This record gives sequence, structure tokens and C-alpha cells, in this order.
Amino acid sequence: MALETYRAKRNFAVTAEPAGKAHKANPKSELSFVVQKHQASRLHYDFRLEWRGVLLSWAVPKGPCLSPAVKRLAMAVEDHPVAYGKFEGVIPEGEYGGGTVMLWDYGTWTPEVNVDEGLKSGDLKFTLQGKKLKGSWVLVRTKGRFAGGDGQSSWLLMKHNDKYASEVDILEQKPRSAVSRRLLAGIAAAHGGDKAKAGKGDPTAPPVAR
Ligand code: MN
Repeated sequence: MALETYRAKRNFAVTAEPAGKAHKANPKSELSFVVQKHQASRLHYDFRLEWRGVLLSWAVPKGPCLSPAVKRLAMAVEDHPVAYGKFEGVIPEGEYGGGTVMLWDYGTWTPEVNVDEGLKSGDLKFTLQGKKLKGSWVLVRTKGRFAGGDGQSSWLLMKHNDKYASEVDILEQKPRSAVSRRLLAGIAAAHGGDKAKAGKGDPTAPPVAR
């Protein structure tokens, strides 16, 4: 696992995203995970699991769902640096992934299976300890390959049935940054981004006060 593809897609003189580096994995340290809400040309959620010094990454167009009955498409994308898990801000228009990025959720994850074997066989079970996402989940690789090739593969992200399973729409109920409490439009405004474009990913009605 390396970051060549990640770096090749980006111009770090222009984007605020971290160039990062692959860390030496410390087997004793906890593994981080992050979900970034990303209003690029289309809204999606980037699901990232720290493994062997990088963030394994999947783009989830519809975002995670707490209902065990729902399967969400998750497209495997290039590994990201661990430092990316702290990035909230704006990628300039015209750059790769141009748009606004929100740290929608973060925390630690615990594998429920041998990770390398799970990645190889296409069946990765794990537990999340996040601010919003908790409990047992699974990523299952589907047989279909993307027409574009590029080594990308499609997976399904699913919640297992446990006490954290729910029919609540977590994306709608908790639309704000887990770090800054901002909506996408607020992040865009603070970082010189396109507030109107970013706001397309925000809920239309103000969320209920908590
Ligand atoms: Mn993205």
C-alpha cells in the first residue's frame, strides 16, 4: 500500500489537502477511521479505515446507513495518508475532487477478522467506535468491476444487526461536522469555497436543536 496514486492525482501547490506520508504501522496503537462528507461534482461520503500506515478508502455515494436491511455501494478508491483524516476544508475547483470536505464522523475501528485476508477475500467485518457510527459493520466486495478499470472495485457497506442498528436516517439527523459542528456551506464560506454549491449537500430545513 502506498500513496503514489493519491499524490499523482493532486497538485499540492494548489490544494490544501495533505501530501502526507505512509506511516510505519504501530501494531499497538488504535486504528483510526473517518467519514468525510464531500460535496464534489456529486455529494458522496468517503469512508476511510487506517491500515498499515495509510487510510484505505471507499467512496460511498449514498453514505452509510444504520439499517441492516440496507446495502450501500462503496467504491474502493486510492489509499489516502493518515493525515487526511484531519482534513476539513475546500479543494479548489478544477482540482481533483474540487469542492467542500466535512469531517462528518471519526473515531477508532476494531477488525473482527484478519484484515489482510478480509481485503483479499472481499469480506471485511469490523466494529466502529465513532461519534455517530458505532457497532458492527461489514464491507463485502461485489463481483462487478468498474468499466474504467483502474483497479477499482465495488463493495457494499452494511450495518450488522446489533444495538446500534436503527431505522433513523443518521445522515439527515446528524448533518454537521463531528469536529467543527459546521454544515458544508459554513465550511465553504470559511475556506473561500463555493457556498452555494456546498450548500446543496446541506439539509434544506434547519436541524432540530439538540
Ligand atoms: Mn471524495
